[in-house]
Amino acid sequence: MAESAANRKRSGTNDVVLGGERKKNTLRDVDPAAALALTRHEFGEHGGVNMSIEASATFTVMEPDTLRRLFAGELGPDRDFFIYSRHFNPTVLNLSRQMAALEGTEAAYCTASGMSAISSVFFQLCNSGGHVVASTTLYGGTHALLSHFLPRTCNISTTFVDIADLEAVESAIVEGKTKVLYFESVSNPSLKVANIPELCRLGHAKGVTVVVDNTFAPMVLSPARLGADVVVHSISKFISGGADIIAGAVCGPARLVNSLMDLQQGALMLLGPTMNAKVAFELSERIPHLGLRMKEHCQRALVFARRLKKLGVKVIYPGLEDHPEHDLFKSLFNKEYGYGGLLCVDMETVERANLLMGHLQNYSQFGFMAVSLGYYETLMSCSGSSTSSEMSEEEQKLAGISPGLVRMSIGYIGTLEQKWTQMEKALARFHQNQPL
Ligand SMILES: *Cc1c(COP(=O)(O)O)cnc(C)c1O
Repeated sequence: MAESAANRKRSGTNDVVLGGERKKNTLRDVDPAAALALTRHEFGEHGGVNMSIEASATFTVMEPDTLRRLFAGELGPDRDFFIYSRHFNPTVLNLSRQMAALEGTEAAYCTASGMSAISSVFFQLCNSGGHVVASTTLYGGTHALLSHFLPRTCNISTTFVDIADLEAVESAIVEGKTKVLYFESVSNPSLKVANIPELCRLGHAKGVTVVVDNTFAPMVLSPARLGADVVVHSISKFISGGADIIAGAVCGPARLVNSLMDLQQGALMLLGPTMNAKVAFELSERIPHLGLRMKEHCQRALVFARRLKKLGVKVIYPGLEDHPEHDLFKSLFNKEYGYGGLLCVDMETVERANLLMGHLQNYSQFGFMAVSLGYYETLMSCSGSSTSSEMSEEEQKLAGISPGLVRMSIGYIGTLEQKWTQMEKALARFHQNQPL
C-alpha cells in the first residue's frame, strides 16, 4: 500500500497540538533555533521537501455525520479535520506550529496582520467594561487602539504606565477588573527593554494575563520562556524579512488559541482577519533563515552604534553600555543573536533629522526613508512625525520620543564596511550643512 501523505509527516518530538491531550511542551525550555528544528517537518503531497499548499476555502467529508461532529467540536485540526479556512487551515496551522516553536508556546495561530493579532487578543481576553494596563511606549497603532478605539467601541479602558516603574504597574492593576498587562519586549521606537520576568511575576500575582509584543526581537528575546502568557507578533517585519507581506501571529496557550477560533465567541473566527494559505506557505519558507538574518541585523547594528557613538552622535542602542537597560538585556537575551537590529539616532530637531536622512538616502545610498523594519535594506524614519504621530506631543514626550529621533532598522545588504563608508559620507555632508 502506498505511503499516505499523512504518514510522511515527520513527527517531531514536540508537536504542538491544538486541543486534545496537552503534551509536555519542552519547546519552552530550549533555544528558539533548536525548538524550530524540533517541530515536525511537513512534506509535500508527492514527497516534496516542502509542504503542499492547502489552497482550499472549504473541506469535504466522506460521511454526512462528520460535518455535525466537526461543528460540535468532536473532530478538529489536531486530528486532521478541517471545516472552512476562516477557521483553521492546514497550511496556516503549519506556519503557526513554527511560530509556537519559535516562541516556546503551547500553540499559535497566524493572522492577516500584526494589528489583527493584537486586537483579537484584547477582544478575547477583555469583556465590555474590562481594563488593561499597558506601557506608555507602544507602537502607534496599538496605542491608538487602546486609547481611542477600544474605549469607544467596547468600553475597554487602559491605564498607561512607565513599565520600568514596577510599583506604578502594580498600583495600576485593579484586581478583578484588570484583565491584561500589555507591553513590548523592546519598545517602539525608544528601544526601552522590558523587565519581562519581573513584570510577569507581578501580573500573575494579581491574576492578569501578560501579553508581550515581540515584533522588535524575534529569536533575540523569548518572552514566553521568560514567563509571558501570550506573545504577539507583526510578522510583517523581521519574520517576513521581505517588506512584501502584512501578517501577524498570536502565540500562547492552546486554550486561548482555541477560544479565538470558537464558532460562537472567537475573535479570529468571527471578525475574520484570516491569513491566506499561499501567504502562510511563503512565510514558512523564511522562518528557517530568520536566525541567520537576525544575527546579521544585530551584528551590524552593534558595530554602527559603537562607531556612531565614537563620532559623538547621540545613539540609543541596547547593546551599548550606556543604554539604561543594557545589563537587563544581557540577563534576558538569547546571547548568540545580539542586541536587536534597530538603533536610534537622536538628532534633536525634525529639521536635522530630515537633513541626515535625506543625505543617507539620496546622497550616499545608505538606506531608504520608509517606515517598518526588518528588511534587508536599512529603513529610516523620524518616529515623532511618522509611526508615532498618533500620539500627542505630551504622550510622545512621556514615551521618550524626541522630535529629532531617527529610528533605523539596520539591513544586511552589501558589505559592512561599504555601508559604513556611506554612513560617514552622509554625516560629513550633514556637518558641512549641505542642502539636500
Ligand atoms: C508594525 C508593528 C505592529 C503592527 O503590525 P502590522 O503587521 O503592521 O499590522 C505592531 N507592533 C509593532 C511593535 C510593530 O512594529
